Amino acid sequence: MAEIIDGKRIASQVRDEVAAGVAKLKAAGGPTPCLAAVLVGENPASQVYVRNKQRACERAGIDSRLERLPDTASEADLLAVVERLNADPAVHGILVQLPLPGAIAEANILRAIDPAKDVDAFHPENVGLMIQGQPRYLPCTPHGVLELLRRSGVPTAGKQAVVVGRSDIVGKPMAMLLAQRGRDATVTLAHSLTPDLPRVCRTADILIAAVGRPRMIGKDWIKPGAAVIDVGINRLSDDEGGGLAGDVDFEAAAEVAGWITPVPGGVGPMTVAMLLHNTHRAAQLAAGVAD
Ligand code: NDP
Repeated sequence: MAEIIDGKRIASQVRDEVAAGVAKLKAAGGPTPCLAAVLVGENPASQVYVRNKQRACERAGIDSRLERLPDTASEADLLAVVERLNADPAVHGILVQLPLPGAIAEANILRAIDPAKDVDAFHPENVGLMIQGQPRYLPCTPHGVLELLRRSGVPTAGKQAVVVGRSDIVGKPMAMLLAQRGRDATVTLAHSLTPDLPRVCRTADILIAAVGRPRMIGKDWIKPGAAVIDVGINRLSDDEGGGLAGDVDFEAAAEVAGWITPVPGGVGPMTVAMLLHNTHRAAQLAAGVAD
């Protein structure tokens, strides 16, 4: 049976470390870190995510602000809010909750955020710095996965990693970070057009699923002893039993894997913890005291 990686516990450790860092920064006369979240429209999942992030900020001693725009907001309206937050010295991090209503081009908004305040690390400048191995911030979900691996004692050096899913937010940066010097995994980045995906996945010592298809990855896709990290968050319909499921068939996979993350309680809480980490770092960088 696999060791279950407890994302809630590890995220709580990270949040405590951030809270200690924030207290130290304030005690040294530094600024109180401040995260501004921008929420457009009434998407219920987005509202929950933003509320969770704000609550986590407050618990870590980080100020949080919420800017709300209606569904009908134009790209120009949203850009005006981003510009105002860019210019506000009391704001250290800006988070625009995705997805945005269809009429607004996400890329235009993400590029308008001051890279120094881009705590999601989606701006092309921050993506470029990360790829070159000199990150200002690491993107929160892949960073959370790295911390889960590191703090659970899963080695990456010399290991074969397979990342399933090639989104800009999760899969692509995940693959890049695992391959970087110091982590030294040999990485395959798989996607919907990868032939014989089960065979590819069976080569993985570390299997990262970031697809968005409930329980797609079964027991026979997993190499015995592998570390299986499930990024997927899939809302099941009532017909499917309701609740949340990951991309991995957890019960079956746990019989063969060496380590496995549950959904919920795996990667999800880490994403929020790493956002706090980045917001603290943004305030440190603004104060010229980053370590
Ligand atoms: P995207 O929809 O942007 O990307 C999905 C990727 O999966 C694509 O690259 C797609 O391939 C690939 N894919 C789709 N179907 C298959 C298939 N049948 N076989 C192989 N690959 C397939 O999703 P995200 O990366 O944004 O999110 C992935 C999952 O992670 C979602 O469930 C999301 O909710 C969750 N998530 C969780 C977070 C957390 O904090 N835990 C944070 C962010 C996301 P192709 O490119 O060829 O279309």
